[in-house]
Amino acid sequence: MAFFQTPPELGNTYSGDDVLKRYLRNTLPPDVLTQIEPELLAMGELSGGELYRDSLANYREEPKLEQWGPWGRRVDQIELSSIWKKAQRITAEKGVVATAYERKTGSWSRVHQFALVYLVEPSWHVYSCPLAMTDGAAKTLTVSKNQALIDRALPHLMSRDPSESWTSGQWMTERTGGSDVAICETVARPIAGESGMYGLSGTKWFSSATTSQMALTLGRPEGNPPGGSGLALFYLEVRNADGTMNGIEVNRLKDKLGTRMVPTAELTLENARAQLVKGADSGIKNITPMLNVTRTWNAVCAVSGMRRGLMLAKDYARRRVAFGAPLDQKPLHLDTLATIEAEAQGGMLIAFRVVELLGKEEVGELTEQEAVLLRILGPIVKLITAKQGVAVASETLEAFGGAGYIEDTGLPRLLRDAQVLPIWEGTTNVLSLDLLRVLAKGGSLEPIFREVNACVEGADTSLKEPAEAALKAIEHAGTWLMRTLEAGGPALVEAGARRLALTLGRAIELALLVREATRSKKYGDHEKAAAAARRFWRSGVDLILDENIDADAKTLFA
Ligand SMILES: Cc1cc2nc3c(=O)[nH]c(=O)nc-3n(C[C@H](O)[C@H](O)[C@H](O)COP(=O)(O)OP(=O)(O)OC[C@H]3O[C@@H](n4cnc5c(N)ncnc54)[C@H](O)[C@@H]3O)c2cc1C
Repeated sequence: MAFFQTPPELGNTYSGDDVLKRYLRNTLPPDVLTQIEPELLAMGELSGGELYRDSLANYREEPKLEQWGPWGRRVDQIELSSIWKKAQRITAEKGVVATAYERKTGSWSRVHQFALVYLVEPSWHVYSCPLAMTDGAAKTLTVSKNQALIDRALPHLMSRDPSESWTSGQWMTERTGGSDVAICETVARPIAGESGMYGLSGTKWFSSATTSQMALTLGRPEGNPPGGSGLALFYLEVRNADGTMNGIEVNRLKDKLGTRMVPTAELTLENARAQLVKGADSGIKNITPMLNVTRTWNAVCAVSGMRRGLMLAKDYARRRVAFGAPLDQKPLHLDTLATIEAEAQGGMLIAFRVVELLGKEEVGELTEQEAVLLRILGPIVKLITAKQGVAVASETLEAFGGAGYIEDTGLPRLLRDAQVLPIWEGTTNVLSLDLLRVLAKGGSLEPIFREVNACVEGADTSLKEPAEAALKAIEHAGTWLMRTLEAGGPALVEAGARRLALTLGRAIELALLVREATRSKKYGDHEKAAAAARRFWRSGVDLILDENIDADAKTLFA
């Protein structure tokens, strides 16, 4: 009889996720968990059922740009994929952005919101992209205290009515770059007689939420000095009241490796009407709240992708028979999956730790020490989970053999979509340098020491070595930082910044894994978390190199 492989199945992504359920049980007050669990179950059902089936059936759909109307007028209409249209409705109805602002669960509202995001993200082809920016825009406008803009945009950004809800773009990157935004070329000319209103002219080189109703963007008011401080933050609406474009042309959609359903476009702005959000300078500083939110989304989406890959790979391992037995009976296959399972669990815990802190910050419950910890963790959580996301996705595909490389299994997309995570919202290097800046501006490693210490306190004797490894790695990071600064100054520290950031990230992830095992003991299901901690530790924590390898880097580049 002919042999056919059995495809993997995905059930309810909440019920099937022991790691998330354990974390929520260990973290949330029981009444909060009881309150939000029906929503998580419903989202898990949708994500593992209808949306998953849609995502497999319609994986080839892509946005289409129609630049010209039938009578020769420029229209720049983008037709979205059917999944994205459905995602727009689901987002509003389920309050995926609104949950964070309605605060029905107080300081836990961010955990509530990001649990929903985590459950659904891989099923709707990166619809998280416009949502992250929408959430970031809502936060930025809220903290700007610009009441007119808050009144105008916020009700739409957090609306639960699909016909009223808006998304927002974040237009920072120009041809000059996305990391070095200070050299942005967009010119802002004041509109006579309209206070705070400007006409923006320039090119926006990457605009991912091009179908959004509004955007936050940067421009340099005429006469302002060059550099970052001369830029201002602007709010604009993409279309005029009559539906025509607001001085904006969509030149083309980008042809991308992944995120194929995201309508990422190149735009030309010619006197686009825009309003100052908060003063006529300090734009980079003023858009920072947006970046803090979008980077948190990036981290949660990275860990969500890892979990999806593992859910499918584990299910497949139970079905796929090779060499006389299912793969889940092959010690080496189990060993391979164990390594990425530990990475995924560590990533999830650091991502949600930042989510917890963000939630506390927004209700004013953050202590001073926690505020510094959040600033330090911001770049770390984004860069480490993104790197883990790519590595885990790659290993996941291999776990399916040839099927992992075939488009209509829905698997290759996991890797392609993961690859954007270390690039947008700040590359690994750029974020490592951000970390150095946070540390230089009065942040010390002290809050991380405290966090790691608190996590490993009371650890089971079976976790003594992982706990010690986490502490040692942080200590090593501290001594390396001091010694390198003394020996070679900032340039030498810069060369090692990525290893520093990843070491801190891995040490915190390991400590959180140890804590998860300790917290789970009273429920009797601590062994899985303990095994993850041990495996994670065995994969290596401390990446810092003491010897000066800067000269080698120059030799190797030449
Ligand atoms: C699919 C997609 C969608 C996007 N959507 C948006 C969007 O909606 N809005 C938006 O504003 N942008 C968007 N971007 C742009 C994205 O944010 C930038 O591409 C990203 O921030 C990197 O900037 P860059 O392209 O200028 O790279 P560069 O800064 O040129 O980086 C090139 C390399 O140099 C390294 N590097 C740069 N500076 C340093 C340094 N000082 N030290 C050491 N290494 C360094 C980087 O790590 C990287 O490896 C999108 C990008 C992609 C791929």
